[in-house]
Amino acid sequence: MNFQDIFIEQKEFFNSQKTKSLNFRKMYLEKLKEVIQKNEDLLYEAIYKDFGKSKFDTYTTEISFVIKDIDYFLKNLKSLAKPKKVRTNLANQLGSSRIYPEPLGCALVIGAWNYPYQLSLSPVVAALAAGNTCILKPSEIAENTMKAMSKIINENFPREYLFVAEGGVEETTEILKLKFDKIFFTGSPKVGQIVYEAAAKNLTPVTLELGGKSPAIVTSSADFEVAAKRIVWGKFLNAGQTCVAPDYILVDEKVKDSFMDSLKSFIQKFDYQPDSEQYTKIINQRNFERLRKLIDPEKIFVGGKTDASNRYIEPTILHNVSWDDAVMKEEIFGPILPILTFTNFNEALMQISNYEKPLSAYLFTDNSEEKESFIAKIFFGGGCINDVVMHLSNDYLPFGGVGNSGIGNYHGKYGFEAFSHQKAVLDRLTWGEPDIKYPPYTDKKLNIIKKFL
Ligand code: NAD
Repeated sequence: MNFQDIFIEQKEFFNSQKTKSLNFRKMYLEKLKEVIQKNEDLLYEAIYKDFGKSKFDTYTTEISFVIKDIDYFLKNLKSLAKPKKVRTNLANQLGSSRIYPEPLGCALVIGAWNYPYQLSLSPVVAALAAGNTCILKPSEIAENTMKAMSKIINENFPREYLFVAEGGVEETTEILKLKFDKIFFTGSPKVGQIVYEAAAKNLTPVTLELGGKSPAIVTSSADFEVAAKRIVWGKFLNAGQTCVAPDYILVDEKVKDSFMDSLKSFIQKFDYQPDSEQYTKIINQRNFERLRKLIDPEKIFVGGKTDASNRYIEPTILHNVSWDDAVMKEEIFGPILPILTFTNFNEALMQISNYEKPLSAYLFTDNSEEKESFIAKIFFGGGCINDVVMHLSNDYLPFGGVGNSGIGNYHGKYGFEAFSHQKAVLDRLTWGEPDIKYPPYTDKKLNIIKKFL
């Protein structure tokens, strides 16, 4: 596949100005919705083949997200794309000032495998809504979903407008040499660095949606039942292969035992059996082996069973874990939940700060001072108080990381902005301007300017 040809076609198509029309954008957003809905079964089948993800999970955490995004833009496109009038300062009177959101041009979206539809198509929807052309390179690790997206999109969209490029590292490396106007990448910090370097060569702006070790803190005032139920759900959803899943727990030593008993009872209740509706497989053998090695048999509190033939890892809770254990040295990205304890809340916050800034952080508490300290003292992309994961489903909140967990954000209007340039224009009247800024410069003029500025 010659990606350069498609890229040149997209550049030419963008330059034709067709994507600037809001009707054009809406027509293709509606088409994308129709294509997804018509091919829902194909999408379910592909993801089930890749890692046994159920229809229920695929609809609630993937398809419904993309459809919701399309509906959001269909409803709000006009107001998002509208020029915004802003104030004009004294020095520029008589004049008016406006910000014109305009598309950046030809966008590249690189997706991750763990929520292959949502993480590939939601950025694509934002790119198209903002008036760009787009090449999507989904993750080859979830091969069947990559092929399904390439089939339904490449058969239904003109390639000079939207195209799905299949491929792995070699192909992505080739694609990254092209001078895109925007690159939107979701994946690991390690590959994020490679993408950032490639983008820098062309001064291409990037959004990097990366990962990290997202903590969940449970204090003595927390409602344990609620905390345990929500943490178990958010951790073992997608078998822990979720960028915003709680990576590890920090629980107050005083309440550790009762909280851990609650965790155990919810794991039993939710019934995470192999091949069940509520549990997915580990994506591949490489990750299965990596995760298996992180389970220290001496520290298992719940779970620990693995089955290589089924790429199954039982929901596993590790206790008596220390900051030096292997499981605390990398993002887990699987169904293993280490529990660490603290005796002093502020020290626990300090411990978190010793790590790279995480994508998410969670706090379970009923204490307003603890809430304030959590928000004020530690850095993280976004998070929840008394819940996990769900902040990303609120499109009024920007979703993205900070530091090692990412650059920029998206969702709702933030997605539109990620793929737009804010063109700033001052429009002046041709009369009514004092002579003061023009040469010859004098002390008198300077004194007057000083007064006003
Ligand atoms: P990854 O970085 O291995 O791969 C992501 C994409 O980069 C894939 O499309 C892949 O083909 C491509 N790629 C891989 N190696 C490359 C290379 N050398 N050069 C160019 N392209 C390359 O990530 P992954 O395994 O798909 O996903 C797991 C990581 O992604 C975790 O760290 C997770 O936290 C993070 N993640 C973040 C978010 C988010 O929204 N912030 C969402 C999901 C996953």
